Amino acid sequence: MIPFNVPPYTGKEIEYMREAVENQKICGDGPFTAKCSEWIEKKTGTAKCLLTTSCTHATEMAALLADIREGDEVILPSYTFVSTADAFVLRGATPVFVDIRPDTMNIDETLIEDAITERTKVIVPVHYAGVGCEMDAIMDIAARHGLMVVEDAAQGIMASYKGRALGTFGDFGCFSFHETKNFSMGEGGALLIRDEKYIENAEIFREKGTDRSKFYRGQVDKYRWQNYGSSYLPSDMNAAYLYAQLELADEITAARLARWNQYKELLTPLAEEGRIELPYVPDYCEHNGHMFYIKTKDLQERTELIGFLKEKGVLSVFHYVPLHSAPAGIKYGRFHGEDKYTTKESERLVRLPMFYTLTADQTEYIAEQVRAFYR
Ligand SMILES: *Cc1c(COP(=O)(O)O)cnc(C)c1O
Repeated sequence: MIPFNVPPYTGKEIEYMREAVENQKICGDGPFTAKCSEWIEKKTGTAKCLLTTSCTHATEMAALLADIREGDEVILPSYTFVSTADAFVLRGATPVFVDIRPDTMNIDETLIEDAITERTKVIVPVHYAGVGCEMDAIMDIAARHGLMVVEDAAQGIMASYKGRALGTFGDFGCFSFHETKNFSMGEGGALLIRDEKYIENAEIFREKGTDRSKFYRGQVDKYRWQNYGSSYLPSDMNAAYLYAQLELADEITAARLARWNQYKELLTPLAEEGRIELPYVPDYCEHNGHMFYIKTKDLQERTELIGFLKEKGVLSVFHYVPLHSAPAGIKYGRFHGEDKYTTKESERLVRLPMFYTLTADQTEYIAEQVRAFYR
């Protein structure tokens, strides 16, 4: 069986985790957490990176920093992971879903403006598969309407739009280091903060509502309860695991892109025959090989293809039941405009195995099985 995902592991993780243990500072904000944050700041150019316990928690922090309250509205795609909406629903906001573009599966930027009301506070673009949303248009809409932007860049580390790192356009950007992502720490994430004015509050929200971060830096002589907050900082053992992978980020990304390009090349003939559709990446977007998907004719063909591949020892998956059609989406949110593509395209999409250690031979075998299915 070729699995769908293998969590990234490079070899140095255990050594670094042992070092974290021997540092006797295994709680949050130890030396490895600092190394990871600095690495991300340098790589992306963001003003500040705070490591978190998940991308979900990074998004919750963004909702706190954006001061989301009961009755506020947040505009986002329905084709996304639950956390994109959930982090705002927890603050009492209404998710307003708009349709996606069928080419990139990202939010259709031309539909955002019509969904804005006097209650709208934030736009949340999701960079699906590490391919950037139309950030020029989105940032322009946000500026004209005085809205904040929180980027769900869970899949977007090491990817860019017009040369600028995903996660650094909006007021806040959120990365994920879940085991299914390009770099992992088991469970974890990061919050990117564009404007330094938010750093102080972000540190307080992350440290149970206290100014303990300042205390650790020796800036105050005791730390106290300053505001509401939660515990969003990961253990330094997890950060140690992540750091081993960030050190090899270029190599990991190159390996994924090689497999991605191989899939694309081997499956292009099928796409040219009109049997399947392949991912589209605008030429001003540099992606990170997070995901390789194809689109079948319809739901039935997809179900048959997944079954066929499984018989051939290949695990392929689909994901994201559109949020507006899920119980909590119906209860808490609404879809603005027509669902022209969200449901239809989500039913056609199937993800092929993609992970750091996937080999060229395995990729060739998988592509060959897809071709065999269509023969
Ligand atoms: C993985 C993912 C998340 C959640 O990340 P966690 O780190 O598991 O909280 C959120 N949004 C998108 C688009 C994701 O792919």
